[in-house]
Amino acid sequence: METRKTAAKAHRPLEHPAPNRAVVVGGGISGLLAARDLQAAGFHVDIYEASGMWGGCVGSHEVAGTVLDSGAESFATRNTAVADLAEELGLAERIVQPNPAGAWVWLPDGPVPLPRTGILGIPSDLNAPEVRAALGASGVLRASVDARLPATVGTTEKVSSVAELVRLRMGKRVLERLVAPVVAGVHSADPEKLDVDAVAPGLRAGIREHGSLAAAVAALRATGQPGSAVAGLSGGMHTLVTALVDALARAGVGMHLGHRVRAVYRDDTDPEQVPEDKKYDGGAPAPWIVDWEHGTDRGFAAAQLLVLATDGPTAVGLLAPELPELEPFMPAPGPDIRLVTLVVDVPELDSAPRGTGILVAPGVPGIKAKALTHATAKWEWLADDTGPGTHVLRLSYGRAGVKPADAVRLTPATPREDDLVATALADASALLGIAVTEADLLGSDIVRWRGSLPFAAVGHQAKMAQLQAVAATVPGLVLAGGWMSGNGLAAVVSGTRRAVRAAVDSARRV
Ligand SMILES: Cc1cc2nc3c(=O)[nH]c(=O)nc-3n(C[C@H](O)[C@H](O)[C@H](O)COP(=O)(O)OP(=O)(O)OC[C@H]3O[C@@H](n4cnc5c(N)ncnc54)[C@H](O)[C@@H]3O)c2cc1C
Repeated sequence: METRKTAAKAHRPLEHPAPNRAVVVGGGISGLLAARDLQAAGFHVDIYEASGMWGGCVGSHEVAGTVLDSGAESFATRNTAVADLAEELGLAERIVQPNPAGAWVWLPDGPVPLPRTGILGIPSDLNAPEVRAALGASGVLRASVDARLPATVGTTEKVSSVAELVRLRMGKRVLERLVAPVVAGVHSADPEKLDVDAVAPGLRAGIREHGSLAAAVAALRATGQPGSAVAGLSGGMHTLVTALVDALARAGVGMHLGHRVRAVYRDDTDPEQVPEDKKYDGGAPAPWIVDWEHGTDRGFAAAQLLVLATDGPTAVGLLAPELPELEPFMPAPGPDIRLVTLVVDVPELDSAPRGTGILVAPGVPGIKAKALTHATAKWEWLADDTGPGTHVLRLSYGRAGVKPADAVRLTPATPREDDLVATALADASALLGIAVTEADLLGSDIVRWRGSLPFAAVGHQAKMAQLQAVAATVPGLVLAGGWMSGNGLAAVVSGTRRAVRAAVDSARRV
């Protein structure tokens, strides 16, 4: 039987790489950064990206004449990884803080400001007026039990979902009214299924150290940069990708956009066939062969070091013919999300009626969006760009547990994807309390993010650790990206740099 691997090999020309050749598969932030760090460490690097755009989830699009972020629009400041990278790329002065007004949460009984000192919606200060408004007196009373519970509650191996931890320590109201909306907005996930150690590393250890969940949240928040928990870049997060791509091109990295990698495997050419001057150094492992396609073209690259920085299911699928032992650790595909961007001319929105945006709790009748970001209220540079009266609103659709098809086909009356704009206008009007109609629309765009956010399901982290342990025994293989390091730029940038550093160190030892 001809497998994908044998079929690819049949067409492959003999090709033998120098020991310092590296190939990176996936041109999202992780792959681009891996290429940068490998090039800086002396490797000759080629990077292959399947789509027509660099940056993956850190994308851009033009709506009503303004170039906007189409995916990630901020980064967490709990570590300095993204700020350090921005500085290296000459973007330090572009780092900006969002409007401190903060966001709101829309509960089944109406909107309230979201407490600002939380992590994943878990409050650190139960006396904060926003916490009292969201939970009510009985909710606060139950949440305060957290301070009197033994530190073992919620920190044993048996408890691993965000929901279980919050329910045990602070009760159902904190879970339903604060945590569920934040988790849906940020991770597109159900807190019952979300692995607490994957999305809030250090939180459970913090309970053991500080005695309560609230204190653990406060301690984790304090380890971050002063000021807001997130920051952005003036001009948009996609300017980080532009700067990174420019730097790679200047440094001579081989950039292959629109090249989908269809297979990777170890070269097992008979050494007798290898010309004398191309023979591998004694003892060096056979190189990786990367089989790519670009339109109707097809080609191969060979390298001693292979970085897979795609989404998890693609990476494990690509390795499956060569490393079938990784298959049991195949991560679950991420959720299917639609982001609807509306650029509208509504001067009443200059008052930013709901701060920087609204997270919608599950089960709010009549509203289909799970979150709305009022981008021009959040980022001053953007409001300056668009001018008074013009507003950028981003609404996201695709709640955990909702079938992907239903995220598009929202009602029988709106059967086509384009109809999401009408739904978004209705949702924006309800959420902001100000009518936003088709007549106000200057432009709109719908971006589909399918499987891009890794699904940090309970057990995901343990599974990825096992997968990493197997992959670490394979010479010249690096697995990187959100599925390995955790969702979000702060985790992806620091995790990718760590993985590449380890690979370079081990290559130097060989
Ligand atoms: C809508 C949205 C909003 C977000 N907002 C934020 C935010 O505000 N702040 C934040 O910190 N994080 C945010 N995130 C998360 C963050 O953007 C991601 O964690 C991060 O960008 C992931 O980077 P990555 O390089 O690991 O993966 P990706 O960006 O997914 O890149 C993987 C790349 O691999 C390519 N690829 C896949 N298969 C192949 C193949 N066979 N051959 C070649 N190339 C292939 C893909 O085309 C893609 O470009 C958001 C994510 C989404 C989807």
